[in-house]
Amino acid sequence: MKELEQRILKDGEFLGNDILKVSSFLNQQVDTDLLVKMAKEVKRLFPEEVTKVLTIEASGLPFACMVAFEFGVPFVFAKKSKTSNVSGELATALVHSFTHNKDNLISVPCQYIKKTDKVLIIDDFLANGEALRGLISIVEQCNASVVGCCVQIEKEYQNGGNALRNKGYKVIALASIKEMAGNIIQFN
Ligand code: 5GP
Repeated sequence: MKELEQRILKDGEFLGNDILKVSSFLNQQVDTDLLVKMAKEVKRLFPEEVTKVLTIEASGLPFACMVAFEFGVPFVFAKKSKTSNVSGELATALVHSFTHNKDNLISVPCQYIKKTDKVLIIDDFLANGEALRGLISIVEQCNASVVGCCVQIEKEYQNGGNALRNKGYKVIALASIKEMAGNIIQFN
């Protein structure tokens, strides 16, 4: 998506260690006009039937919420910490956080993802694919089906996306970074 690529070039900051900071328009302060355009693009890219949108807290939440609105379905998010007000069966997955370099046991109550659900998985970034793998595992533990995965930004050279594509999952990025070094970002 050209508009997202241009915004990354204008306002994205390369922090080193393969981390791109997009907090001024995607992750912490959110450009809602761009958010709506991205969600509409996801709707176009996934003509399949979708009954639920799933993401992981926290930075993918605004995007997932807007995507779910476009599809006219609820969105559900996996929590990173166990809360006391959870009852019933939980689907869980251990996910290594790329940005915080620690493992999180993410969880979703099975009551929110039914067997009949067709789930579109959403996140902000795709790097090594840990977060998407964890979310896919949660959907499959609930015996629901994965329609595909869509992220705002994929760092394609980190190969998480291609590993999932090789397993047969439909994975699409709105902006796909081929190379990132110094202040030069190259898109696919
Ligand atoms: P993965 O699980 O694919 O290795 O990494 C994806 C997760 O790590 C995303 O949920 C995202 O929050 C975070 N992440 C990975 N790379 C970056 C990055 O370059 N910048 C930011 N802001 N977050 C990232």
